[in-house]
Amino acid sequence: MAVSVTFLGTGGSIPCKYRNLPSVLLRRGPELFLFDCGEGTQKQFLQAKGGINRKMRIFISHMHGDHVFGLPGLLHSLSFMGRTTDLEIIGPKGIGDFVIGVNRVVKLYSRFPIRIKEARYGRVVDEAEYEVRAAPAQHGMPCLAYAFIEKPRPGRFDPLKAKRLGIPEGPLWKKLQTSQSIRFGSRRVSSRLVLGPPRRGVKVTYAVDTRPCPAVVKLATGSDLLIHDSCFDQSASTKAKDYGHSTAGEAALVAKRSRSKRLALFHISAMYEDASPLLVQAKKVYSNAFLSMDMATVRVGQ
Ligand SMILES: [Zn+2]
Ligand SMILES: [Zn+2]
Repeated sequence: MAVSVTFLGTGGSIPCKYRNLPSVLLRRGPELFLFDCGEGTQKQFLQAKGGINRKMRIFISHMHGDHVFGLPGLLHSLSFMGRTTDLEIIGPKGIGDFVIGVNRVVKLYSRFPIRIKEARYGRVVDEAEYEVRAAPAQHGMPCLAYAFIEKPRPGRFDPLKAKRLGIPEGPLWKKLQTSQSIRFGSRRVSSRLVLGPPRRGVKVTYAVDTRPCPAVVKLATGSDLLIHDSCFDQSASTKAKDYGHSTAGEAALVAKRSRSKRLALFHISAMYEDASPLLVQAKKVYSNAFLSMDMATVRVGQ
């Protein structure tokens, strides 16, 4: 299934002319996964044609305003536009109080059920075809980095091999294609005889508001796309340390250590109207880096 990532907002702390507050929309076929929801996300979401009634989960990294202030507005608008499908919000401790507290004072009139899950580390979503894992980012307060991981798919089916084994086309082929072994006459035929090696799925890691740290490197290992905090350039490295952020060069190091295939520099400080120096610095460490831009979409995997 096609996986793509649209950067709804790529700035940090405060919005600026070219960058909204952080939010990333991952689409897998008809399903939506929204990572963080900075103020103004709803407008970007609509512009990106996110869809009103799709199966959707929202993942919040931490309880700083620039990552959650967009949530009430998005929930309100989705309801207004007729969403009826339930929606799950996953985040650190405090996310429940935030949504319930807002709803108590400013009624959201949500017409769809909202499920809130306060998550710790490890697997936070487990579906047949994919999972989402969380790991502790290093930001001076509880902050979660997330990895969306597709589970390996069965290898390619070889019809010639199936024919050679005398298995007729039809329901038995279907079973073999989904890795099930079959009974054919008195024989038991393993799907391994007609399938190629399992095909690995797509992996996207979202790690913002974090210092470079081993837990994120581990979580991101083998990512097709790593979206990493790159708040500052090298000259502001002390500031990055003091505020629990990363420089572009540090993000590049995480991409390199985690053997990620691509790195998106993300959560760019409003002090950079032209952020190209950040890209130059990142590329010195890791060549396959790019600057995330608001409303840009990248395809991930095949
Ligand atoms: Zn932030
Ligand atoms: Zn923060």
